[in-house]
Amino acid sequence: MKFEEFRIHPQILKSIYKAGFKKPTDIQYKAIPPILNGEDVLAIAQTGTGKTAAFVLPVLDLLIKRKIANRPSGIKCLVMVPTHELAVQITQVFTQLGKHTSLTTLGIFGGVEQEPQIQQLESGVDILVATPGRLFDLVSQQHLKLQQIEILILDEADHMLDLGFIEDIRQLIQRLPRKRQTLFFSATIDPTIKKLAYSLVHNPIRIQISPKDPVSRNVEHGVIFVAMDDKRFFLERFIQEHPKSKILVFVRTRVRAERVKKAMERVGISSLTIHGDKGQQERFSALSRFRDNEVLILIATDVSARGIDIENVDYVINYDLPEKAENYVHRVGRTGRGTRKGQAISFCSEEEKEVLQQIELFLDAPVAVWQLTQTEYAETLEFTQDTSYNWRKLLEEDDVSELKRKKRKK
Ligand code: AMP
Repeated sequence: MKFEEFRIHPQILKSIYKAGFKKPTDIQYKAIPPILNGEDVLAIAQTGTGKTAAFVLPVLDLLIKRKIANRPSGIKCLVMVPTHELAVQITQVFTQLGKHTSLTTLGIFGGVEQEPQIQQLESGVDILVATPGRLFDLVSQQHLKLQQIEILILDEADHMLDLGFIEDIRQLIQRLPRKRQTLFFSATIDPTIKKLAYSLVHNPIRIQISPKDPVSRNVEHGVIFVAMDDKRFFLERFIQEHPKSKILVFVRTRVRAERVKKAMERVGISSLTIHGDKGQQERFSALSRFRDNEVLILIATDVSARGIDIENVDYVINYDLPEKAENYVHRVGRTGRGTRKGQAISFCSEEEKEVLQQIELFLDAPVAVWQLTQTEYAETLEFTQDTSYNWRKLLEEDDVSELKRKKRKK
């Protein structure tokens, strides 16, 4: 099937092809027609499936047609998202795909000054992408009116609930017109999410993408068994053997992120880190350097996992297995985005085997084991360039920096 068959406005089609999208993904195929029809949609789809364009494309089309009909100005579409990063990402998709239209999109979120956002709002916005906290503040201060909203979208609703936004969402919804189209997207569904969803949507079209296999079909994923202390050598070898690949490495803690970075530095591999200890600016700078291929290795903790949409991540490496099984899905979902293929490899130590079992329970399927022979294992240890390797010294260094960090925080 081709995008033309949806009868989307030619100005939007132009941007779709420019973005390199050749055919709709599963969620786009299922969601675009009912949205264009003005129906409510309740979709369970993980990130990586193309879900953003699944709502961006029809919404742009609906708004462009309505704009031609010369309606009064004001925000017509509101997208609520859990994080700053996701707000930026979705704003970019609206801007990119709406480039040849006259529609304007603004992203607003907390953690940055409010004033520039207010000024932009005053200059007129058709689509607003916002985190519930900042949105609530601006509405309460009457900088923002929601009466003209025709389309409400909740994206990653489960994550918004995890972050405790439920009250903000409830309060905001009361201020929206009752007559509106509502699109509700969530990666997972449980009774609380269901309740929220059904309090918002009206006779929705329900769409669920690969419920049995939460890992995107485009991702080949497997596990290798590696002793905790040897993981660095396996990472080093993998990177050296894939010198042109973009690799996202997940670790369990902030301290471990810096530790792995240091270990890679010792063997001449440069990498970036992104985790909760980094300021907003540092996180954005690391993401954009990674996105622009300035540095090909990004080491991240789960905190930063959800908001990342970087095209062309070739490999995800779970240097440590995630503590929460569902994060496995979010992590490996960073590769194999859209219609691309991706690969994810997990390094599992003896201590982590229990976590692996939980992940398999969550996936309702075993994770493929990629067997290493003893020779392959030994070769990897010999492969390292780290001649000055002294584990104890490195640990001591890290403990000192962790102590300093704690002191600074106090
Ligand atoms: P999402 O699930 O919205 O986070 O999208 C994941 C990735 O898929 C993004 O990098 C999109 O640019 C890409 N994508 C979305 N739709 C398509 C498509 N039809 N063909 C190819 N890539 C796509």
